[in-house]
Amino acid sequence: MTPTVEYVESKIGEFNALVFGSCLPPISVKLSKARSFLGRVEYRKKRSLFGRKPDNLQILMRISTAFDLPEREQEDVIIHELIHCYIAFKGLRDSSTHGRLFRSMMERINREYGRNVTVSHKMAPGAVNPRLQEVRLNCICVSLLKNGRWGVTVCTEAMMKKLDGLLPRYYAIQERHWYTSTDPFFNRYPRSRTAKIYKISREDLDVHLPDPDNKNNIL
Ligand SMILES: [Zn+2]
Repeated sequence: MTPTVEYVESKIGEFNALVFGSCLPPISVKLSKARSFLGRVEYRKKRSLFGRKPDNLQILMRISTAFDLPEREQEDVIIHELIHCYIAFKGLRDSSTHGRLFRSMMERINREYGRNVTVSHKMAPGAVNPRLQEVRLNCICVSLLKNGRWGVTVCTEAMMKKLDGLLPRYYAIQERHWYTSTDPFFNRYPRSRTAKIYKISREDLDVHLPDPDNKNNIL
């Protein structure tokens, strides 16, 4: 299914009542074509004019329309995001983004409501949008950041030179290499037009850019 704003809003209302005892504040919804996430929440603190009232937290939930998920999984994505909303709204602290608190809430919800909310956002193969399986040529910059993490930037050939100049201005990069690949794995990353590096694991790099002699190191 492809979610609409009305659908997401009605599910937020439904799960706010069922799972969170209707304690969540109003949440704005925006759809996104991003392939880098299924859903995410953004918060903004609205300052009161005279600084006396407690800060008013505004929450925006973004849901991607780039994936054709079965409805149950789409609901689980919304519940996942609602857990983030709850933790932020209550001002609770967690050990990390999906830390102990997040996981304990998630496990309780899965148990009590027969859900299958996850933190990995891993999708069943059948759930992947066909667009993600297209064979197309991507230019891929693999960056080893100075903090030891690996990152990836996917773009078209036309953007490659420009991005190669921009990336080091925005990130602390130890080294970077460009590749071309038609592996559909890389279709999950948006084709960048601005300097943006996405996290990627060393294992994924080894699996999807496996052959160092065949790497078309083009820049
Ligand atoms: Zn999350």
